[in-house]
Amino acid sequence: MQGLKLTARSDKPRTVVEAGPLRLGAGFAVIAGPCSVESELQLLTIARAVKAAGADALRGGAFKPRTSPYAFQGLGLKALKILEKARRETGLPIVTEVLDPRDVSWVSEFVDVLQVGARNMQNFSLLKEVGKGSRPVLLKRGMHSTIEEWLNSAEYILSAGNPRVILCERGIRTFEVYSRNTLDLSAVPAVRELTHLPIIVDPTHGTGRISLIEPMSLAAVAAGSDGLIVEVHHHPEEALSDKAQALLPAAFAALVRRVRAVRSCVEALS
Ligand code: PEP
Ligand code: MN
Repeated sequence: MQGLKLTARSDKPRTVVEAGPLRLGAGFAVIAGPCSVESELQLLTIARAVKAAGADALRGGAFKPRTSPYAFQGLGLKALKILEKARRETGLPIVTEVLDPRDVSWVSEFVDVLQVGARNMQNFSLLKEVGKGSRPVLLKRGMHSTIEEWLNSAEYILSAGNPRVILCERGIRTFEVYSRNTLDLSAVPAVRELTHLPIIVDPTHGTGRISLIEPMSLAAVAAGSDGLIVEVHHHPEEALSDKAQALLPAAFAALVRRVRAVRSCVEALS
């Protein structure tokens, strides 16, 4: 692959991206939380549950990229203040999405990791802006993007000066409609052979179906993923976004146990 001056794998060890206690690229990390921050009670309830289940970081959207302009768009600043409160209480580092380059600098004051979502993977102004900062960036694969395009987007961030990039496979659009997207788990070993960056998997958006989340999570571990990002909600039927795919806290806790068990087996084999 041409032109990946900073992203391509080299003789140096793989990059470990750290955000407080969260380490990506060394061991196995689980990021969990609701799709959107909806209220203080909602977020704190879910934050406590995912912490108890062994999550390493809390996710929650403050700015939501919705297909319809009439759908819930996120609570913005109010959500960021709630996320800060959850971090104070649980100690979990916070991951949240930024949609607009103008928000990167001030949102960085509130959170530990900035997510660039699938729809913005080739928003080059946004990539340059997060690249100018120092917050780690969780760069999701675009739903229509090849691995080469995705890695070039990572190159934008690295070449702007920020080496702290975590790649995230979240499924691509294919002719298949049974699952929301087609989770391309072959991207995990591919990214590992092509780059030095950590790679995680999002089985929630990758499948859009509760029943597929655990099998694909276990498969992601076997494929060499450095972690998972999973949506959890204590009342999924009332969630303001992505209600069909949020795990209940108990199901998430069971998932973490099984994922960690499979990870130990994989480590023992390697
Ligand atoms: C999300 O994480 O809630 C999200 C919108 O993800 P994606 O960009 O992968 O669709
Ligand atoms: Mn979501």
